Amino acid sequence: MNLSLKKIISTLDAKTIDIQDTLEIDTISIDSRSLQNNEKTLFFALVGTNHDAHIYIKDLIAKGVRNFVVTHIPEGLEGKANFLVVKNTLEALQQTASYYRSLFSFPIIGVTGSNGKTIVKEWLNFLLSPDYNIIRSPKSYNSQVGVPLSVLAINEQHNLGIFEAGISTVSEMDKLEKIIQPTIGILTNIGSAHDQGFENLEEKIKEKMLLFQNSEALIYQKNSNVEQHILPKMKAVSWSFMDTTATVFVSKKEHTHDHTLIEYTYKANVSTLQIPFVDDASVENVISCLLVLLHLDYDAKTIQNRIELLFPMEMRLKVKKGINNCSLIDDSYSSDFQSLKIALDFLESQKQHQKKTVILSDIFQSGLSNEELYSKVAELIVSNNINRFIGIGETVSTLKTKLDNALFFKDTDEFLLQLENLNFENETILIKGARSFQFEEIVSALAEKTHETVLEINLNAISHNFNFFKSKLKTGTKMMAMVKAFGYGSGGFEIAKLLEHHKVDYLGVAFADEGISLKTMGIKLPIMVLNPENTSFPAIIQHQLEPEIYSLKGLNAFLKIAEQKKLKDFPIHIKMDTGMHRLGFELNTIDDLISTLKGNRTVKVKSILSHLATSDDLQHKDFVEYQINLFEKLSSKLMNGLGITPIRHILNTSGISNFPEAQYDMVRLGIGLYGVSNDSEEQKYLENVGTLKSIISQIRTIQSGESVGYGRRFMANGESKIATIPIGYADGIARSWGNGIGFITIKNKKAPILGSVCMDMLMVDVTEIDCKEGDSVVIFGESPTVTYMAEQLKTIPYEILTSISQRVKRVFYRE
Ligand SMILES: *Cc1c(COP(=O)(O)O)cnc(C)c1O
Repeated sequence: MNLSLKKIISTLDAKTIDIQDTLEIDTISIDSRSLQNNEKTLFFALVGTNHDAHIYIKDLIAKGVRNFVVTHIPEGLEGKANFLVVKNTLEALQQTASYYRSLFSFPIIGVTGSNGKTIVKEWLNFLLSPDYNIIRSPKSYNSQVGVPLSVLAINEQHNLGIFEAGISTVSEMDKLEKIIQPTIGILTNIGSAHDQGFENLEEKIKEKMLLFQNSEALIYQKNSNVEQHILPKMKAVSWSFMDTTATVFVSKKEHTHDHTLIEYTYKANVSTLQIPFVDDASVENVISCLLVLLHLDYDAKTIQNRIELLFPMEMRLKVKKGINNCSLIDDSYSSDFQSLKIALDFLESQKQHQKKTVILSDIFQSGLSNEELYSKVAELIVSNNINRFIGIGETVSTLKTKLDNALFFKDTDEFLLQLENLNFENETILIKGARSFQFEEIVSALAEKTHETVLEINLNAISHNFNFFKSKLKTGTKMMAMVKAFGYGSGGFEIAKLLEHHKVDYLGVAFADEGISLKTMGIKLPIMVLNPENTSFPAIIQHQLEPEIYSLKGLNAFLKIAEQKKLKDFPIHIKMDTGMHRLGFELNTIDDLISTLKGNRTVKVKSILSHLATSDDLQHKDFVEYQINLFEKLSSKLMNGLGITPIRHILNTSGISNFPEAQYDMVRLGIGLYGVSNDSEEQKYLENVGTLKSIISQIRTIQSGESVGYGRRFMANGESKIATIPIGYADGIARSWGNGIGFITIKNKKAPILGSVCMDMLMVDVTEIDCKEGDSVVIFGESPTVTYMAEQLKTIPYEILTSISQRVKRVFYRE
């Protein structure tokens, strides 16, 4: 893109203070971590209900970014960069996109609906790419932020756009329409997703139809609710299984084991189409694509040839554990310039090693000449500090002359033959290639071999939950995030890294080992160790961890080592026992504590803390108040005795919610970060973080009177279909979750666990569920939730989360 700053200033009606407005902007960014930010970037500092990107501006200026759209100029930065001051930075981003969109006049397909938007967009891209240079929304960038960013990626070479729009409540679609300005509309399955934002189905349809208010044609499943919103000037292109008056009437639908055959009538011609899927949702999505092709005048034969090649797609970028301590970012389904940019940003934010490697196939449909395209790719690779580049394919070898440290292979097979010799080790590898290169074979060759059970961690949900609790704090209150016990079972390093980005003030771990591993992997944040053993003090000092000191004995042991090592002002944290009676100094030890610390210069009391025993249960409100009063008394005594004013903190997650007056200088957020609240009202505001998934290993049918599992604890009283899942109590699923108490979810239906959970397996009833071997199942996540499991098992969510064994692979993803 190329936009003059001057033009943007006038579009936004932005306030500026003597800035250089002759500049040209070539990228728009909202991501402070992106290594693609440079002097030609315009950075929009977005402000959400719970987060504010203005905090990153100072760092960005240091990295060379010069142009910012802001609501205010952060203190001390005036004159240090160009600031465009607006009322609302998100609206400014949308206005910029809308202005930019209007500079182009090629056809744009706008897709909305409740289900199937992203897949329809991706399939259309695949079907139409032989004939068009397509710009499309990357992944599922369909929100108020994602849509403008997608549209801003249009360039002069494109001649068709496909953008999806997702809304969750009224009044959002109007804004997206102005940005996308679709000429052809597609309304996919309207379903019931996101219903909470709408009064009723009627309102939802009406709102979605706003996307098409200026479109020339609309593609939809024939339905009178939709048709009452179709404007006279719009061409209605409908399909139906029932209504012969639809533009495309589907008269027959037959399944084989892996195909669906349909017969359809269009303009009085009857044709057949083999669809390479059997589930209803995929068939409907293919029909939406079929209508687009018919509308664009493709003939039945070309349509059949292309649709035959459709394949299911993974829409998310996934981080997986690789061989030899590598980590893999699997993006093995697409290869276009825009998605490469996104994948490189993801690589930077997720990298777990210093060394970054990219394996890339030929890039298709850029609209640019090879020379131009690969010059741009080379720039990206260089600006992202990629240590090793591997190109697979013909055109990608254009990079030979443009990159150092690059290797090239003719095709995927040739690469796989050489894999052993390439010594992949301790590096983060982005694997990105077009479907035809079958990079899934590379992913599978480089992935660590483990069983099919994974705990998927949604990093966006962690950010959301963090920001939610952050918004409850008074300005200036610091936040310590508890990442003990491997981030409550969800992954220590990955979560710490994300929290570091969110500028959390402190991390808390239980033992020194946990802190050492975080520091060794590159976490720079200060880390408090709650339960340091005396033997770990030397390692604590060596790794700059900060011990919690809870007894005179511990203090003296630490001081001895600190003095030997001639430390000065080494940070320590003093724990008070105010009623938990676990660890900490009591009233009668404070005088000794003062006299030991007084005048000592080897250590410095960084903070004073205590822990609440009943913050989650308002029945014990009096006890919490007693603890808070005692904390006030003990901490004041220590502070006065030593003449210091350290950070004070006492609240955990439910304390933040229930006792906001006791925030002091910092709070310690634990379980809430991982999406669990003790309060069912508050729970609604949190997002689910972990989803424990597995697959069906085997399905069998048993007869009435036959039993399942050890001890014959389940007896069938009718013919039953039984599925075996490879997860058991050794993976952390309580044995008591079986025998009629627990269930898992398969195809959104409950499958009750039959008999006792075994060590490595469990069996479930799938008599009523249409499923097959290899299908994915959910052990916990949206349903059942860990909170529900905990209630049934008479324990707490903390235990469920932290019990999931380390042999279950953690997979991190971003939506
Ligand atoms: C674990 C822990 C926390 C966090 O508690 P949550 O209930 O998970 O928020 C806070 N402080 C201390 C001392 C802890 O051990």
